Amino acid sequence: MNEVNFKNASELSSLLAEKKISARELMQAQLDRIRAVDGKIRAFLSIDEADALAQADAADARRAAGTTLGTLDGVPVAIKDNIAVSGQPCSCASKMLENFVSPYDATVISNLKKSGAVIFGRLNMDEFAMGSSTENSAFAKTANPWNTNCVPGGSSGGSAAAVAAGMTPLALGSDTGGSIRQPASFCGIVGFKPTYGTVSRYGAVAFASSLEQVGPMARSVADVAALYDVLASPCSHDSTALPGERTPTFPQLSAPAKPRKIGLPKEFFGGDSAIDEAVKKAAAWYESQGCEIREISLPSIDLAIPTYYIIATAEASSNLARFDGIRYTHRSARATDAIDIFAKSRGEGFGEEVKRRVLLGTYVLSAGYYDAYYLRAQKIRSLIRSEFEKAFADVDLILAPTTPETAFPQGGKTADPLKMYLGDICTVPANLTGLPAVSLPCGFDASGMPIGLQLIGKALDDGNVLAAAHAFETAHDFSGRIPTIEI
Ligand code: GLN
Repeated sequence: MNEVNFKNASELSSLLAEKKISARELMQAQLDRIRAVDGKIRAFLSIDEADALAQADAADARRAAGTTLGTLDGVPVAIKDNIAVSGQPCSCASKMLENFVSPYDATVISNLKKSGAVIFGRLNMDEFAMGSSTENSAFAKTANPWNTNCVPGGSSGGSAAAVAAGMTPLALGSDTGGSIRQPASFCGIVGFKPTYGTVSRYGAVAFASSLEQVGPMARSVADVAALYDVLASPCSHDSTALPGERTPTFPQLSAPAKPRKIGLPKEFFGGDSAIDEAVKKAAAWYESQGCEIREISLPSIDLAIPTYYIIATAEASSNLARFDGIRYTHRSARATDAIDIFAKSRGEGFGEEVKRRVLLGTYVLSAGYYDAYYLRAQKIRSLIRSEFEKAFADVDLILAPTTPETAFPQGGKTADPLKMYLGDICTVPANLTGLPAVSLPCGFDASGMPIGLQLIGKALDDGNVLAAAHAFETAHDFSGRIPTIEI
């Protein structure tokens, strides 16, 4: 292990600025680390090493010429395999897109390029971001760096594991129902789902468009904030991206923390007792800093899982209709006519979970069932949103567990999809409501697996959410811990 492997992006940025390390040396150190541990972790689906090193050389040339672009110039950022980078594969960990190479950049990637960051690697994920364990990838199962028999979480399990194992300081994930926060929690890192509409979805392969956001993952809140500030922007290609310039969150981290009212929603507790305890301890710490802690209730949270799985599958059934074997996707060699191409290509190209969701989503949208399921779910979504609005009239921030349990053994839930879905109970509410939410480490359970603390804020209060998380992080040492990977 090279000493730079576990340095945060902010430290790397200073080392680059002081010319104590070059961007090439830094990128090479990450590639060496990947070579050493990724055979065991399997976070990356592929890496274009020559391209990564060429980008690093370009960053070094800018620095030598005095034209450095920003604080992330020369810092590596690895990318979840559902975010388009021009000239790179974008398979969504699906056989359907196994040979697809993106012809364009997602807006978040264009933004990163403008920052000078070195964009490298394709990170494993659940197929089309559907899952909570990265076991639904068509290509590899990613292991949790804290215990390689356990899952890293999902769907951004490759992103979380890569960051936790020191293979990259920064990664992008996407969060439709918790896919940034839950794997961040399972792997002991920081992951942030921004307010809906602050980050462009253009070039992020759509699963459930009304729920998802691309977001940053890193080993510190400050790094997550710095990366978010690069990602967030208006976007003329995404009609759901909010107009207007974004207020940078990074400068807000060092603003003096004001005493705030923090709500603990009772419906989020009652899972693993070690998690409840760690989160309540975090609440007590905020109280010791002058915050007022209130127990609050969000009574419709028990409907969040069915509501999410109706809306998400309905949107997925529509979004995934484009993968038909006719255009750029897998085409069955056994097909004879057009209908046969659709059926056989989709049958061969999609994995079991994706098919389950397309079927479920088609069902809830079908005439006769639309009112009973889809429309009802939309009404409950509004109800949940209004309960959060009411809660936020009284409190500034909501504090809760990220997950009801820590990382579970591989294979532990694959036979029972419902059991897998129920684990999303603490994360889906922020997607149904569009609210910003961060997960950061707040302890470890008896078997040494990381525990995540979730902070949920008001819409567009991203800076305050990250500032509150940063205050907790700097007063504790949970984020600095490094897993030992036996190779
Ligand atoms: N686990 C959730 C699901 O399977 C969330 C996925 C996500 O956020 N992409 O739908």
